[in-house]
Amino acid sequence: MHKEIWVFAEACNNSIERVSLELLGEVRRLSKNGAPTAAVLIGAGISPSLRQTLSQYGAQKIYIVDHEKLLYYQSEIYTHILTQLVRQKKPQIILLGATPNGNDMASRVAARLRVGFVSNCTDLKLNDEGRLVLWKAIRGGKSQAAFMTVGSPQIATVCPDVIGLEKVVPLQTVPVEHLDISWDKNMEKAEVIEFFKGNPATIDITEAEIIVAGGRGVGGVEKWPLIEGLADVIGGAVAGSRMAKDLGCISRDRLVGQTGKNVRPKLYMALGISGASHHVNGLKEAEKVVVINKDRHAPFIKKADLAVIADLQELLPVFKETVTEYFTGGHFSK
Ligand SMILES: Cc1cc2nc3c(=O)[nH]c(=O)nc-3n(C[C@H](O)[C@H](O)[C@H](O)COP(=O)(O)OP(=O)(O)OC[C@H]3O[C@@H](n4cnc5c(N)ncnc54)[C@H](O)[C@@H]3O)c2cc1C
Repeated sequence: MHKEIWVFAEACNNSIERVSLELLGEVRRLSKNGAPTAAVLIGAGISPSLRQTLSQYGAQKIYIVDHEKLLYYQSEIYTHILTQLVRQKKPQIILLGATPNGNDMASRVAARLRVGFVSNCTDLKLNDEGRLVLWKAIRGGKSQAAFMTVGSPQIATVCPDVIGLEKVVPLQTVPVEHLDISWDKNMEKAEVIEFFKGNPATIDITEAEIIVAGGRGVGGVEKWPLIEGLADVIGGAVAGSRMAKDLGCISRDRLVGQTGKNVRPKLYMALGISGASHHVNGLKEAEKVVVINKDRHAPFIKKADLAVIADLQELLPVFKETVTEYFTGGHFSK
């Protein structure tokens, strides 16, 4: 009987972090030797929909530790719980997303269990013996190196977005085991009092729900405040094309595309961007794309859910004003 491969299902605001779902799918695909894929979910008031999601993305078993004090991640307590679970159930591998919490917890659990740990991996394989082989960038991204950790379980964190998301199995009921793990009061050293939503204009564009992106057609640095103003009004993050970056309108971390970032907003507004494949490849997962371009033959027009053929030099000031009035006039709440 093969030992289980675990994926820590990081949950926030009653939804599972995408990287955890990516990992479940990947483990299901890799685990040809029949090692069962199990998800570990720690939280408070865990809803049945989370369990359904985990099973759809590949979990064949779910371990749940549910307690009112576990609503938010707390280093000491979460580490203690996962370490205890590992000691009880003895999985062969544990994978976590390379998020701040994932890296924090993985390193602590590995230290307590005295086993090896590799962080921020970008690829993984199981070798013929069922041991995990991990790849990660080294020397500032100039080279890749392959690693195998010593001891059992093998523990690693894997970067978000390197695997891709895919529902691997139709909805089905999988076994769920509720576990009761107690902890010492001394471990309750910190308490989360409040969460603040990040400023959409400055948050990482990969996390943004609305993106207002501009290209060369916006008219350069001088006209760029119109894009920023529009984004501000609708609660969107500012991004742009390579030309927008080269013209000095955006920093490199706000570039969308092949050499920039992959984004997945609910709304992507592309203003004065031609729609070169290098750019469009970065928004394959955007839900709705609105394009404004003066050239009806621009490649982006065909890829848009809504296309407006207009000259931005004329449209943008009026558009920004109208949108501002709409939003501030109580027609719409962000
Ligand atoms: C290896 C490689 C990697 C690359 N990676 C990326 C990447 O990651 N991201 C990226 O974005 N690009 C990338 N590029 C560059 C990419 O190929 C395009 O050159 C770039 O996306 C073009 O930017 P743009 O659409 O803003 O500019 P342009 O191609 O110059 O397009 C400007 C658009 O604005 C429209 N326009 C002009 N004036 C107005 C106006 N007044 N009103 C309305 N519309 C107007 C024009 O009709 C045109 O469609 C890469 C290229 C290479 C070779």
